[in-house]
Amino acid sequence: MWGPTLLRSCSSPKKCLDLALHRPLFLFLRRLGGNLRRSTRRELLLREFGAKPLARAWLRASVQLWNRVAALPDTDPLARAMCENLSLPGRTPQFWSVGFESFLRRIGALPEAGLVAEEGWAVLSVDKVLAAFDEWFAQGFQGLPDDPRQASSSAVSLCTYERWFAVTPVEEGCGTGDWSAVPGYMSHTAGIPARHVRSLAAFRLGAHHLEVATGRWAGRPRPQRVCALCDCGVGDEFHMVFECAAQAVPRQMHAPLFAQFGGWEAASSDRSDLGADALRHFVAQDARLVASFVHACELRASAEPPDEVVFGDPLSETTDEFLECADDDVSDVISFALDAVLDVPGFFPCPP
Ligand SMILES: [Zn+2]
Repeated sequence: MWGPTLLRSCSSPKKCLDLALHRPLFLFLRRLGGNLRRSTRRELLLREFGAKPLARAWLRASVQLWNRVAALPDTDPLARAMCENLSLPGRTPQFWSVGFESFLRRIGALPEAGLVAEEGWAVLSVDKVLAAFDEWFAQGFQGLPDDPRQASSSAVSLCTYERWFAVTPVEEGCGTGDWSAVPGYMSHTAGIPARHVRSLAAFRLGAHHLEVATGRWAGRPRPQRVCALCDCGVGDEFHMVFECAAQAVPRQMHAPLFAQFGGWEAASSDRSDLGADALRHFVAQDARLVASFVHACELRASAEPPDEVVFGDPLSETTDEFLECADDDVSDVISFALDAVLDVPGFFPCPP
């Protein structure tokens, strides 16, 4: 019954997400991603976690109520109430039927003859109305440039996600219900350490500390958000994976991920030859390895793992375990080292 009243505030997808009722949902999703920062784009959170805006549920309930009332006999009290709601003079936007009709018109789902045709009240297809809503809601992801590096400032976050990370691009899946497919690392987290999941989620959602994001807070133009590690090129997601000279160690540790991109040694300051789809193909590989690689790059950027321990080693349980510890405080690293020492027989002499 409250659907049209709530939907009245949804004059645009952004306004829809601004509703205070959405706050608990986004707080929950940010927690689920490992305490992602508050400024994480809400459209991206919904897509990454396969969640839908509450407005979609309100719309579905309103359509179902309308269809139920349309099927009632004229003598039913609810049908008579709706009849009055539709025919009273001086109807205002606060009227249920006016709010409902107006939102259907906004998303392009209002039948040509309107809700009340000569032959009777229209019965709406729930699926078609929701498909129209999905298309309306996803409009910010449409008509974006192929290369996020060419996107305008206002569109760069959505474009980066759509071109580099989305499981199903909006232009392919819109209206079919597939556009919100959840990436594998989120739906099957088994075997992936929580810290790695958090690093990958932050990386995919632009909630990381790469210069392309931190430079925005400082108001620096994008060309000036140069990678602080290698001082060579804008420090964005593509740069970290394929171009940054400072990430050679994580690349070597995760060499199988780079087999289809010319090998881990092929990294250079300009890998635009790989094409706009390269990063999308990269993150679609084995989720455990990709998450481990992104986490290792994050540690590398904060200069935590010592080179002599991890350099040259293939990915193994030992290095993996070390990286997990290295992400914690120093006491965990010390515990890790002590555990290794205590495993050596005879290291500690027996007490007299
Ligand atoms: Zn770099």
